[in-house]
Amino acid sequence: MRIVVAGGAGFIGSHLTEELLKQGHKVVVIDNFITGSRKNLEHLKTDNLFVIDHDITQPIYLGEKVDRIYHLASPASPIDYQKHPIQTLKVGALGTHNMLGMAMTHGARILLSSTSEVYGDPEVHPQTEEYWGHVNPVGPRSCYDESKRFAEAIVVAYRDYHHVDTRIIRIFNTYGPRMRLNDGRVVPEFISQVLKGKNITIYGDGTQTRSFCYVSDLVRGMIGVMEHSYMNPINLGNPAEITINEFAEQIIKVSGIKVEKVNLPLPKDDPKRRKPDITKAKEIIGWQPTVSLEEGLRKTIEWAKENV
Ligand code: UDP
Repeated sequence: MRIVVAGGAGFIGSHLTEELLKQGHKVVVIDNFITGSRKNLEHLKTDNLFVIDHDITQPIYLGEKVDRIYHLASPASPIDYQKHPIQTLKVGALGTHNMLGMAMTHGARILLSSTSEVYGDPEVHPQTEEYWGHVNPVGPRSCYDESKRFAEAIVVAYRDYHHVDTRIIRIFNTYGPRMRLNDGRVVPEFISQVLKGKNITIYGDGTQTRSFCYVSDLVRGMIGVMEHSYMNPINLGNPAEITINEFAEQIIKVSGIKVEKVNLPLPKDDPKRRKPDITKAKEIIGWQPTVSLEEGLRKTIEWAKENV
């Protein structure tokens, strides 16, 4: 197939691109490199990969037939989207609109990668796809949360009004090699800190929870959803929930580097608990994560040692 990956130069996008190329597809990456990097694709030396430097908030017309579109384009870490709030809102709104237009033109199937952030600071735990969320529309995270909520709404509108073949996944915290080490997210931040022998910065008292999914598990789930007929949102993430304090201890244990932990103020609207209910992914597409946190962290730390 000929597959477009919008945001294919980013962390998850580059792993997805690699897997699709491995499966023998032709991949067209569209990226404006606002947070993605050419370096993430450099190792993929093949004539089946085409890279277009383009901001999808502007229209784009591809001549050759497209069969699938994975839309991952967006800044995704709290630091990145707060630095680029308007770009973030535009890519969720105008960018998603343009990708839906491309899907219509080519009769292609399109998958939107949405996020657990559509649930905001959740009052339901674990989060099921039926939960509508608890989102501050004017808070520091709103540029990302509302952008993705709008993106889901326009995808569903194109599905129901124009009969576009759509899929929606909601990605929970994902980690692995090629995360930007300075993107501010907890995994690259803690790993960089231990590798540099610095104190680990715990925001708040560290009792807030997250559930971390290794990137190869996520990519398998994404392709699974794309190639299944189910059209409603599906959570993809690892349900193994852990506090940020416990997570810091894991990083210290796996890296074998002893550093101290320091507490810093908790950012506004930081979700207190997050854990996906993945019943749908399990029952509908037969997916569940297989990589343990320890194994995933070992691989990520090995990679970070070469790149810190
Ligand atoms: N966090 C932390 N120290 C850091 C970076 C993040 O304690 O140096 C916490 C953050 O407050 C949040 C969790 O780790 O509770 C995950 O943050 P991240 O930025 O990775 O993404 P989020 O899941 O909040 O979107």
